[in-house]
Amino acid sequence: MRKIAVLTSGGDAPGMNACIRSIVLTAEHFGIQVIGYKHGYNGLLEQEYLPLRPKNVLNLIQRGGTILRSGRCLSFKQVDSAKLAAKNLEALGIEALLVIGGDGSFHGACHLADYWQGQVIGLPGTIDNDISGIDATIGYYTAIETALESIDKVRDTADAFERIFLVEVMGRHAGFIGLSAALASAADQVLVPELCQDIHAELDNITQHVLAAHRQRGNSSYIIVTAENLWPGGVTSLAQMLSEKTKVECRVVILGHVQRGGSPVSQDRLLACKLGAFAVERALAGDNRIMVGEVNNQLVALPIQVSWESQKPLDPYLVKIQQEFFDITRKLNP
Ligand code: ADP
Repeated sequence: MRKIAVLTSGGDAPGMNACIRSIVLTAEHFGIQVIGYKHGYNGLLEQEYLPLRPKNVLNLIQRGGTILRSGRCLSFKQVDSAKLAAKNLEALGIEALLVIGGDGSFHGACHLADYWQGQVIGLPGTIDNDISGIDATIGYYTAIETALESIDKVRDTADAFERIFLVEVMGRHAGFIGLSAALASAADQVLVPELCQDIHAELDNITQHVLAAHRQRGNSSYIIVTAENLWPGGVTSLAQMLSEKTKVECRVVILGHVQRGGSPVSQDRLLACKLGAFAVERALAGDNRIMVGEVNNQLVALPIQVSWESQKPLDPYLVKIQQEFFDITRKLNP
């Protein structure tokens, strides 16, 4: 193998740069040239790329974002786009394409593979952690850390004014960030899609819990971590309803895109190092249409469609203890 390419696509995640670095250094070790396509699949269609040598990835591991930029490319779903991308890859003599992104980007890689002779390999990079079949995605741990730091700060001001705070985190389809950040910050409640099938029914539950907490602890802060897009009209309208029902002032903090940014934490850097190196090794071994990842701390190469064939469940043990901690408030006497 002489030449491979890498791109970052879809929602960016801290650790993507660390992963690019690992790919470039491992490729150098095996005497393979690397090029990086810019702006996701857009770069592949427009032949926008740059050579990546070890000197290009110095001082990179700690940087958030992606030096290749990311992008969404809706036209890539078309057959003509996949054919054009295949032609462009062939023109440059690329033998394998490594795609760092989420399951949408992996769909794109498979679509390309239908029209291209080369190998496609997915590396899971998304803060949402919603890729089935593997333990964690690059960027997830940093996103929890960012949410956690903010919730800790919100708690200080919530305490001072004895308010309810609703903290909205990312994850409209998956509650991994919400559940982990809630548990790690000792939030009083967590509202995520997997655990709130009927959010209207939840409102009474939330109200009763807030009132029970106030009876027990006197006026004190009360933190609810909620995933985005759960409540019709948004988190602000939920806050309004809660204020009315509980007669306690309820404020909103929307963390938004800050969760995507920042320097990756050590777990994301290490995962990025391992997966980048392993992906190059799998490319050399001739693998195609695979995703690399870790399962129980072991590196694995799985068929890429595993990433989207089923919905990744929340850790049942985390769900159980969150529920137990939550119930304790209702059972304790004032
Ligand atoms: P993520 O990779 O984070 O899940 P998206 O779902 O936005 O992000 O997908 C990123 C990009 O992957 C899309 O903009 C598009 O270029 C490509 N893509 C997604 N789904 C498909 C598909 N079914 N066929 C071809 N390309 C796709």
